[in-house]
Amino acid sequence: MEGINFKGKTILAIGAHPDDNDFGFGATVAKATKAGAQVIYLLATKGQRGSSNKFLNPERLSKIRMKEQEKAAKVLGVKSVYFLDYNDGELVPNIKLKEELVRFIRRYKPEIVFTSDPSRFFFKEYGFINHADHRAIGEAVLDAVYPLARDLLSFPEHRKIGLRPHKVKELLMPSFLPEDANYFIDVTDTFATKIKALSCHESQIKSVKKLRQRMKTRAVAMGGKAGFKFAEAFIRLKLPR
Ligand SMILES: [Zn+2]
Repeated sequence: MEGINFKGKTILAIGAHPDDNDFGFGATVAKATKAGAQVIYLLATKGQRGSSNKFLNPERLSKIRMKEQEKAAKVLGVKSVYFLDYNDGELVPNIKLKEELVRFIRRYKPEIVFTSDPSRFFFKEYGFINHADHRAIGEAVLDAVYPLARDLLSFPEHRKIGLRPHKVKELLMPSFLPEDANYFIDVTDTFATKIKALSCHESQIKSVKKLRQRMKTRAVAMGGKAGFKFAEAFIRLKLPR
């Protein structure tokens, strides 16, 4: 599969929680913005449940996590960050969520959309369950990209606010297992920037040192599959014109 030329591209990266994009493919985001892409973040929740600190209520935590995400996005060169108003842990791929996603796709007309892989319920290799919100956002984004954003007759009310159908060209979903991936991006030059961005998510990280090690192990393993020092791995769908 030929490489992606990020120059001049508009990329919409859609996650369930603040930090999802950065963990999943932050080094690729840094590489894309460096190459001249315009990257927009859209997060469906404010991550208001992502803490076991009993002194933090969901309102306070969402404010903290929004700030952390904005800081991390700046490190990666992301142009703007938007949050939807869904509850962390309760995301479902319903028509309301899909309509909001279609609105963003029609407004910003991205050539490339990044999101989570909704097909994985669990990873027996690592012994973890794929968070329901990650599955939900992935499913909703896939449906929003195709067929909803493309079809003239879906959400006809969008026309009144000046939005037209839009065809996304490519969809990329980060892959935790190299055997799932069909595309590897060389992130040797921007891996350190990813770690810098991730360390902005202070409420989510116990040890930056351990995090760096974990991320490095994965980036090296993925890189090994493609002949790069560090790589991020993806399932890449090139959608028909
Ligand atoms: Zn998440």
